[in-house]
Amino acid sequence: MSSSSGAYDLSFKILLIGDSGVGKSSLLVSFISNSLVQDDLPPTIGVDFKIKQFTVGGKRLKLTIWDTVYDVTKRESFTNISEVWAKEVELNSANQDCVKMLVGNKVDKDSERFVSREEGAALAKELGCLYLECSARTQENVRQSFEELALKIMEVPSLLEEGSTVVKRNILKHKPEHQTPTSNGGCCS
Ligand code: GDP
Repeated sequence: MSSSSGAYDLSFKILLIGDSGVGKSSLLVSFISNSLVQDDLPPTIGVDFKIKQFTVGGKRLKLTIWDTVYDVTKRESFTNISEVWAKEVELNSANQDCVKMLVGNKVDKDSERFVSREEGAALAKELGCLYLECSARTQENVRQSFEELALKIMEVPSLLEEGSTVVKRNILKHKPEHQTPTSNGGCCS
């Protein structure tokens, strides 16, 4: 336990966005605990996020990711991606280069599928998103989706620079703006 806490190389944030009931909490539980998801997690209203320390590409990470989810067995959750959720991302995104991934969940319910893989891929292309289908229930593609997102973020210099700028700003906040000259001329302690 203690070896997993503490230092990391990069800090990103994961945001799961999508209709209530599409499986956002289940995906998180599936990814974070590496366990199969049981029925009856309470549905999420709006947006939910959690943090996981995660090693990928040799870097220890905390992740900042827009992760847009729909349920392949619920048509409305798919149409709401373009009508609601993509607009939310556009309005609230702090960095134009943010990495987005469209995720079609619940592929284990293939007989109840109402959104084809091709439709999902086409929408992802239109919205400029990566695309994956997965199942929080069976864990199919869950780890892969987070891994792919993390690797993509690491390829975008402005996201890494932006992060380091914010970190620097926060560090500077805790220092006096102008150093008062000291008689002994000492600097860092
Ligand atoms: P959220 O509101 O988007 O956070 O959705 P939840 O994670 O609460 O999931 C809503 C329901 O869908 C729950 O009953 C889950 O057990 C179920 N669920 C989530 N992911 C899957 C999946 O991949 N396959 C199946 N069959 N059910 C799932």
